[in-house]
Amino acid sequence: TELSTLILDRIRDVPDYPKPGVMFKDITPLLADPVAMAAVVDELAGLHQVDKIVGIEARGFILAAPVAYRAAAGFVPVRKKGKLPAATLEESYDLEYGSATIEVHRDAFAPGDRVLIVDDVLATGGTAKAAVELVERAGAAVVGIAVLMELAFLKGRERLPGVELHSLVIV
Ligand code: IMP
Repeated sequence: TELSTLILDRIRDVPDYPKPGVMFKDITPLLADPVAMAAVVDELAGLHQVDKIVGIEARGFILAAPVAYRAAAGFVPVRKKGKLPAATLEESYDLEYGSATIEVHRDAFAPGDRVLIVDDVLATGGTAKAAVELVERAGAAVVGIAVLMELAFLKGRERLPGVELHSLVIV
C-alpha cells in the first residue's frame, strides 16, 4: 500500500548497531518527515476506540503521544525500571543476555480502560508481551498492539497469541 511504501522508504538499516551482526531499523528519517508521520499517526489513531494509548520507552513514546492526541485518548508511559516516580507494577523478561524490567504506574488506568500499546519495532516480542502483562495487571484491557515494523524472522507474533497485532510494515 501507499502507507507501507511511505514507511519502508523512511526506515534506515544501520548495520552492526548496537552490536556486530545486528541490523538496526532506524526510524529517525520517518520522524523527520511530517507527511509520513501524519499518515502514520492517523492510521494508528484509527485502529481502535480506546481510553489510553501506552507508549513503550523510548521510541514508543514518540509515536504514542501524537496518536493519543489524535485519538482523544490519554497517554501512559511504560518505562524502564527506576524511571517512574510514584508506586509502580513491574514485569521482567529475558533478553539474549540477561533480563530487562519495565514498569507502569499502579494508578495509570481506570478499571477496564481500553488500551492500545504502541512501539516502533516488534523484534522477538519479549517487550510487547511484558507490556501486555503489565497493562493487564494494572487493571486495563489490551485491545491491540501496534508497531511500525515487524521483523517477521524473529517470530515475535507467535509470542503474542490472543492479542490483535497491527504491523504497518512486515519485513
Ligand atoms: P523485542 O523485545 O525483541 O521485540 O524488541 C523490541 C524492542 O526493542 C522495542 O522496544 C524496540 O524499540 C527495540 N528494538 C529492537 N530491534 C530494534 C530495531 O531494529 N530498531 C529499533 N528498535 C528496535
